[in-house]
Amino acid sequence: MSMRELVVLGTASQTPTRQRNHNGYVLRWDGEVILFDPGEGSQRQLLHTTVTATDLTRICVTHFHGDHCLGLPGTIQRLSLDRVPHPVAVHFPAGGAEYFARLRHAASFHETAELRVEPIEADGQRIALGVGTLEARRLRHPIETYGYRLVEPDGCRMLPERLAAYGIAGPAVGELIRVGHLDVDGRRVTREEVSVPRPGQRFAFVMDTGLCDGVYALAEHADLLVIESTFLDSEAALAAEVGHLTAGQAARVAAESGVRRLVLTHFSQRYADPARFADEARAHFDGDLVIAEDLTTVQVPPRRVASAG
Ligand SMILES: [Zn+2]
Repeated sequence: MSMRELVVLGTASQTPTRQRNHNGYVLRWDGEVILFDPGEGSQRQLLHTTVTATDLTRICVTHFHGDHCLGLPGTIQRLSLDRVPHPVAVHFPAGGAEYFARLRHAASFHETAELRVEPIEADGQRIALGVGTLEARRLRHPIETYGYRLVEPDGCRMLPERLAAYGIAGPAVGELIRVGHLDVDGRRVTREEVSVPRPGQRFAFVMDTGLCDGVYALAEHADLLVIESTFLDSEAALAAEVGHLTAGQAARVAAESGVRRLVLTHFSQRYADPARFADEARAHFDGDLVIAEDLTTVQVPPRRVASAG
């Protein structure tokens, strides 16, 4: 059965705290299981979830600050230790290739797992996955940083009762989907007559950035948006200076971009009470709001419904 959910491994920026591990997230999306930005301790955090190293199909790193990549050595070695039989793709900013090479070989190990190293070379780079398109967009941060989004193409959902009414069954259904129409007893039946549109779903991951066009490009119509809100509005000037977002800014992006479920994370350790992030975000965003906590799971919301044509 297909499953689309976010597993939160850690939610702290810069340094772990007693309550929060360094960053780290896993997106389960049908056959793809993507590890995003594994900070320090991600391998152990995985143990507390239902995700195993063998489940991973892909690793995406936004940039090479420690809280987004220090979990790579352990995770990569674990792939070999567990004899993961399938290749695991790895994406990261091409300018950070030297950091990646060091992290990958930070310690001696017997490498058996196959890593497919596919750096992001340019803004807007797209990677075709079986489940849709993974797209990287340049963000605004002191070092080269890319956010990611996964876009499933729009499709259609066949309506069994309408197919039955036209007497269409078996392989003919496949032909109708493929060709777009089918001749039945001298009458042409179109795909639109026996189906409803099925809007594709979108996931976006926006980490470590000041406000910029890339943020909006990634967030556009996301069903689930995971976005950094390192700071509260009281530190807005500092946030802009160091290339980060406030909870209020992140929430405004979500509201303006038609986001359905918003996950705020990557919190500065200076704030003790996570409810303050919710309070500031709520002033701008009235959709589903999640203040991320370690070792929790956030579902991708059910698909938008399209009315019957
Ligand atoms: Zn950073």
